Amino acid sequence: MAAASLDPPAQAPAISRLTDSHGRVIHDLRVSITDRCNYKCVYCRTGEVGAQYPELKIEEYLRLIELFVGLGITKVRLTGGEPLLRRGLLDLVGELAGMRTVDGRQLEIALTTNGHLLEGLAAPLKAAGLARVTVSMDAVDEPVFEQITRVPGSFRAVLNGVRAARGAGLTPLKINCVLLRGFNDGQIEGFAHFARQEDVIVRFIEFMPLEEDRLWSPEIVVPLNEIVDRIHRVMPLVPLPAHEASETARRFGFADGRGEIGIIAPVSQAFCGACSRVRLTSDGKIRTCLFSQIEHDLYGRLRAGASNDELRAYIVATVQGKEARHHIGESGFLKPSRSMVHIGG
Ligand code: SAM
Repeated sequence: MAAASLDPPAQAPAISRLTDSHGRVIHDLRVSITDRCNYKCVYCRTGEVGAQYPELKIEEYLRLIELFVGLGITKVRLTGGEPLLRRGLLDLVGELAGMRTVDGRQLEIALTTNGHLLEGLAAPLKAAGLARVTVSMDAVDEPVFEQITRVPGSFRAVLNGVRAARGAGLTPLKINCVLLRGFNDGQIEGFAHFARQEDVIVRFIEFMPLEEDRLWSPEIVVPLNEIVDRIHRVMPLVPLPAHEASETARRFGFADGRGEIGIIAPVSQAFCGACSRVRLTSDGKIRTCLFSQIEHDLYGRLRAGASNDELRAYIVATVQGKEARHHIGESGFLKPSRSMVHIGG
């Protein structure tokens, strides 16, 4: 009989999953791949165009994303700026589709876009491995839409993009609408109809103080309760259960069973306690919160020749220091150093 081996059983190397000091597990990574945008939405931009921060090479994003995935990230959302402007996007998606999570599953890949270039890119993105897109639309009335984007022809382009994305199977298709009182709060009921007509999930987002200019005030925010009440009056709603604890949107279905809306209420009903996100800016800095006052220069370390082990240790330590919550609306609130378009929403 063969002697029993005295060696300890082979063990998989320990993987340190990303957690923070508040006990949250971080499994969502948002990556901005450019801070250029082809829209100048009035609530977001001052009207200046062009990038403020450099972009990394596609292979550099991939190296950094792979490190995060090795630390337990299961979902990567590409954003910007406007990610469809980024050359090399299809290659990036194709490479991400080949990555596996630490559990050996396929990485969930999503993208947030203004939809302007989506008509031509929806099918190639799907073929490259993209699972879903979220399209930002802040009005369903063409003139209101174009007053917001400040780009003629943008409404038609985005509508065609939405339909192409649905046709390509980038579903469930979500539409994000940021509501500002006095700008587009007249669109709420129209969006409820749009959700059903176009078979999309419309999610209303409370406006946060992340604009380039100074526009935010508590009064300009259209809170969750008001949105629900207004839709419910014309089309009765029923609450739907969350898909997962860290889901940002509160879900509602129409009472007749056809269609869904969601409300993301970071201001009136903050969900920081369930936050599972970390961000990488287009120039390779880690942001642990949208409202962080400091950034962590991961790319600077890569450029200086840090090894993968050193970069991983830096990511783990940085995420440990993630902020407990934001302080929107409190006295002493400080706007972050970057605005939404340059962080990556
Ligand atoms: N260009 C892409 C797009 O339009 O979806 C991705 C970047 S954009 C910054 C991402 C999302 O952030 C958009 O839905 C936009 O409406 C939203 N956003 C911009 N500024 C915001 C703010 N101050 N508060 C809440 N959402 C904001």
